[in-house]
Order: sequence, then C-alpha cells, then structure tokens
Amino acid sequence: MFHEDLCDLCGDCILNCPFMDYDREQSIEQFRRLMAGETPEIVSRCVTCVACNQFCEKGANPFDLILERQEETGVLNIPEENTQLFRNLPNAPGEVVEGEPGKAVISLCSVGDLIPGLFEGPLFAGCTFLKGGRYFCNVGWVHLGYHSPVREGARKVVENLAETGAREIVLYHDDCYALFASMIKEYGVEVPFRPVHIIEYLLQAVKESGGAKSLGLKVAYQQPCASRYTPWKDEWLDELFSLIGVERVERKYDRKFAMCCGSPMVPRDREKALEIRKRNIDDAVEHGAQAMAYLCPLCVLSLRKAAAAAGLENYHLIELVKMALGDTT
Ligand code: SF4
Ligand code: SF4
Repeated sequence: MFHEDLCDLCGDCILNCPFMDYDREQSIEQFRRLMAGETPEIVSRCVTCVACNQFCEKGANPFDLILERQEETGVLNIPEENTQLFRNLPNAPGEVVEGEPGKAVISLCSVGDLIPGLFEGPLFAGCTFLKGGRYFCNVGWVHLGYHSPVREGARKVVENLAETGAREIVLYHDDCYALFASMIKEYGVEVPFRPVHIIEYLLQAVKESGGAKSLGLKVAYQQPCASRYTPWKDEWLDELFSLIGVERVERKYDRKFAMCCGSPMVPRDREKALEIRKRNIDDAVEHGAQAMAYLCPLCVLSLRKAAAAAGLENYHLIELVKMALGDTT
C-alpha cells in the first residue's frame, strides 16, 4: 500500500530506477503527477521490478502507487492470452505428494516442474510436496500490472495450504514467501502456519550436515523481484553462500540495485526483455562471476541461455547446496 503521508516528493524512487533516465527534477515531476491521480510516462514505462519500494527510504512504497495506476488504466496493454493464462492458473491440475510424518511440507506453487529433478535426492527425502493451481500465490499478476488478484486470491490459497494441517510450510517460490510473510499483512488474512523460505530450509540442511564441501565458486546472484518484499532474507543467503564456499561477486546489479531477469517484459516488449537480459549478464561477466546463481525458476528460464552463451554456468541455489553436500541427484 502506498503511504502518501510518508512521501516528501524527494524523487529518489524514480531517480534510482535502473530503466529510466530522468534527472531529479523530472523524477519529482513524474511522482507529483502520479500522486495527483494522473498517468505520467513512468506508469507505462515501468518494468514492474518493485525496486523503487526499496529505493524509498521513507517507507512510502512508491511501486504500489504505480501498480495501482497500471491496474486502473490498463496502460501496460498486456495481451489477453497472458492475462487469460494467469486467470486459469488457480484451476490448473495439481497434486499432493504425501511424504513421511515429521518431514517438511513444501509448496511448489505452480512452478515446481520447471527445473526437472530439483527436488529429487536425499536433501528432500520424505518431504510432502504441494503442487499446482490450488497453491498458486497470484503474486505474478504484479508483472502484468494488476494487484487486485493477489489480494483477492490470498484467503483461498491460505485455506488450501492450511488444509494440510502443517504448522510450517516451506515455500520454494519467492513470490509465495513474499505473499505469506509480507504482502498479506495488508489484506487482513491470518496465516495459520509459519512461512519458511526455501533458503532457510537449505541453510538448516547445510548446518545439520556437519560439514559441507567448499565449492570455491564465484557467482553472480540473480535476485528475484519478489525479494523486494522480504529483503531480510539476504542475510540468510550470505550465510548459506559462506557455508558452502560460494563467493557472491560484488556487482552493480545485486542487492538493492538488483536487476530483473527480463521475463516480465516478454509479453510487452521482447526487445526490451533482451536488452535487460544482456545488461544483467554483461554485468555478471564484468564482475568476474563464473556462474549465475538463481532462486526463482523463472529467472533460470529467462537467463540461462544468455548466461551460457557468455561462458557462465547456471545453478539454482538447490543445485549448489546438493553439490556441496555431495548429492549427485
Ligand atoms: S515515494 Fe519515497 S522516494 Fe518516491 S518521492 Fe516519495 S518519499 Fe521520495
Ligand atoms: S518498479 Fe522498477 S521499473 Fe518500475 S519504476 Fe520502480 S524501479 Fe522503475
């Protein structure tokens, strides 16, 4: 939610946007017009990366206002086939793969099968997996310029997950963690389980292993846009990397200034999506990375070819942890 009372019209949010070239005066003017109920250029040019919510040090959540205007005006002109795909997702087939009592319950949202084999092997032995449309968190709607489906779908997806009776649910998709650990606080929906991020699960597994192998790898981390809602996880990731001997290269497009993977732009502007991918991968190479390290499977799909073409290996965080634990599945 945008907090108008916290905004002093400093312009930092738009000035820092990695996809715009406004000077401070122009940034302030864009935001002033936005607050006045107009639809300035920023609304249609916005890539929906959510970064400006973090750029605003006053906690006003400027992206939430941009998103509100995108939804009101439909200015992103998302093709109907893309919105239809999202409308259908909650009804997509799914399943509950029952594991053993006492083992983790893991929600894979609608993205569990995008990287085959990721959840096989000792790291996930005995876990229960929740897959498919019933567990789709709707947060991806943000990239189509809509907030209301996230808010309106939240109660249902909480109920579906709560049916398991689990006191803790591990969330593979960063979007799901963003919803249950942060966004939902505005919706007045209670979450009767503790949302556990997959990084917490991996960190725990490495600590309990009593000695993971040091991988000696320099990686460029690809932070998902949804991580903007839950930035406290970055400490857990740094600890995880340190325990498995992975160096997170200090690059321009990481942490607060992380760059989106480009996939949100594909339905709107393929050229722009390619340009974003190139900027991202060039930055990784320039800063000495040997590999890309991913959290979101959609980032993997978006960047892996461009990364490989630039000589970088591609690893999901789960794959890195499996390698460090000597799990060859
Ligand atoms: S939303 Fe935040 S960063 Fe943007 S103009 Fe207002 S106070 Fe400044
Ligand atoms: S969400 Fe991202 S692209 Fe949109 S204005 Fe904010 S920083 Fe720029």
